[in-house]
Amino acid sequence: VQIVRPFAHDTVVERLWSAAREGRLPHALLLEGPEGVGKFVAARWFAAGLLCSEGPGPPCGLCGPCKRVESDNHPDLFAIDPIADGEERIKIDRIALRGDSDGGPEGCLEAFLDLRAMEGGRRCVLVREAHRMNDAAQNALLKTLEEPRPGIVLVLESHRSARLLPTILSRCVRVRLGGLAAEDARRVLDHEGVPAEEARELVRWTEGSPGRALAWRARGAARMLALLDGCLDGSRPPLRVAADLWEVEGEFPGPTPSAQARERARFVLDLVLALARDAARLAAGKTADELPQGDRAAHVTLGSGRSARSALDRLLTCRADVDRNLAPEAVLERALLVLAERGRNMGAPARR
Ligand SMILES: [Zn+2]
Repeated sequence: VQIVRPFAHDTVVERLWSAAREGRLPHALLLEGPEGVGKFVAARWFAAGLLCSEGPGPPCGLCGPCKRVESDNHPDLFAIDPIADGEERIKIDRIALRGDSDGGPEGCLEAFLDLRAMEGGRRCVLVREAHRMNDAAQNALLKTLEEPRPGIVLVLESHRSARLLPTILSRCVRVRLGGLAAEDARRVLDHEGVPAEEARELVRWTEGSPGRALAWRARGAARMLALLDGCLDGSRPPLRVAADLWEVEGEFPGPTPSAQARERARFVLDLVLALARDAARLAAGKTADELPQGDRAAHVTLGSGRSARSALDRLLTCRADVDRNLAPEAVLERALLVLAERGRNMGAPARR
């Protein structure tokens, strides 16, 4: 668990430390909000500051506990991190001890809870993307939440908290961490070495989520959007654009080439849907400046009433088809035909 000072959310974390100093820290927290805004970074920072011998407060980085947190070797900190582990789901063996289980304290939350505090103070559990727990894991976690133990604080993090059991939600104090101010998000990207001009666009597109901005960058979003422009202004045939989209360099995770292709199609469809949604918001009276894809969306005319709905519906169907086992190439072509029809039909002026 690396200690990184978050670029945002410091007032929230500060408030939690101060609750801890005053002995009124809840035993279970849920940090929720959009994906990629640094919720887990904040959770780790909070935990480090809770365990620091100068704390609760900003971790000093110098004391024994801070060093142990930094080197991933603090006996009173237990983290379940499916992203680092490359696991799609958090399964029950990460949560509950089972009779025949060999999951020692290394791997299992219950085993960790059964240990005594090694450093005599608080103990902390972090669960990243808690919505990845399957039902069995959630039910096992619920048992832990129902029997809070003194000195233990459980911090769940999630951008899809609706997938958590209502009984889990009701036992957590829910703390909302929102998108970053554009300036803060740009600082994060700058820190990651993204050139300023590119960062400016990415931040706008992803609405204050530097994590998403970096993912979009890795996936070649800028190039893809430029290709979609050609589809909208009619300067390139939609099927040609569809073919070009497969050639854009980008990282699409997946165990097999076909899983990666599906992931790419999913991403392109999400871009197309973002355009279509902003077109709908423009039609509803928003101005282009307020919207992440406002400039581009100004070239999409969804029409009104039934025809607008049907264009959006068709795109949503395409998006759903990618998740079914339909050939992603064919789905993408269909979506681009819808987009081209919506751009050209209304006589959108050529871009650039
Ligand atoms: Zn310290």
